[in-house]
Amino acid sequence: MANKHFESQLLTGGILYGPFHARRRGTVVGVNLLPNDVKICNFDCVYCHCGLTDAADLKRLDLCPPIEAVDRALEEGLRELAARNVALDTIIISGNGEPTLYPRFSEAVNVVEAARTAHAATAKIAALTNGTLLHKPSVAVALTRVDARVVKFDAGPADLFDAIDRPVYGFGFKQLLQGVKALPDFALQSIFLAGSAGDNTTDAAVDEWIAKVRLLKPLYVEIYGLDRLAPVPGVEKVPLERLRGISHRLASRTGIEGRVYE
Ligand code: SF4
Repeated sequence: MANKHFESQLLTGGILYGPFHARRRGTVVGVNLLPNDVKICNFDCVYCHCGLTDAADLKRLDLCPPIEAVDRALEEGLRELAARNVALDTIIISGNGEPTLYPRFSEAVNVVEAARTAHAATAKIAALTNGTLLHKPSVAVALTRVDARVVKFDAGPADLFDAIDRPVYGFGFKQLLQGVKALPDFALQSIFLAGSAGDNTTDAAVDEWIAKVRLLKPLYVEIYGLDRLAPVPGVEKVPLERLRGISHRLASRTGIEGRVYE
């Protein structure tokens, strides 16, 4: 069931979008490798700011921009920003869904690297991913070439992962853990939510999440709460104090830093 008040807020209108200020990454431009007006993802997270996933859209990857168009957009866009003296902190590969679904993801990373070197040499390249394609060597290797790999990890218990991230084809939690564990130097990104759609803030759920984070050994964990209306009902924002408490418990038990963003 959809939340009738929800409006998709971040379906981007182009390959390069921004610049904008991001609470975690400074002055940012985003790279959207997916179609302009269609979300394509193999998850259907209850909080997704792009809206609900339509499973049929997973068959529409042919609508993705060709690599030549990605190259042109990065080259022209970053050149123009440099000419305007916009100092970028981060070029983030994200966009209208799961970016690693882009059929030529590895080449897209090459293109982003080349444009960064030419026009925004001090900017970091970050990639956000739900980690579902890490079993593909081309994706895993491409992700090792960006400066920051950030993998979504919203729940420790498998049933909560299913309830919150809602894998479209029932993606295996175990496979996700194996793929993430094999990545070098990555961060995790975890959203905490309450409500009937899935509550990952109970003590038991947090303890299991901490146990899995300990196994995965990320550099740090980005911990954040809902900052927009969710596309489905029953998704509630968690108070900042609770996020800080979860971060504190993570650090005290594992030594792993949790960076809290409201
Ligand atoms: S993985 Fe990201 S794009 Fe996909 S449904 Fe979840 S939040 Fe949305």
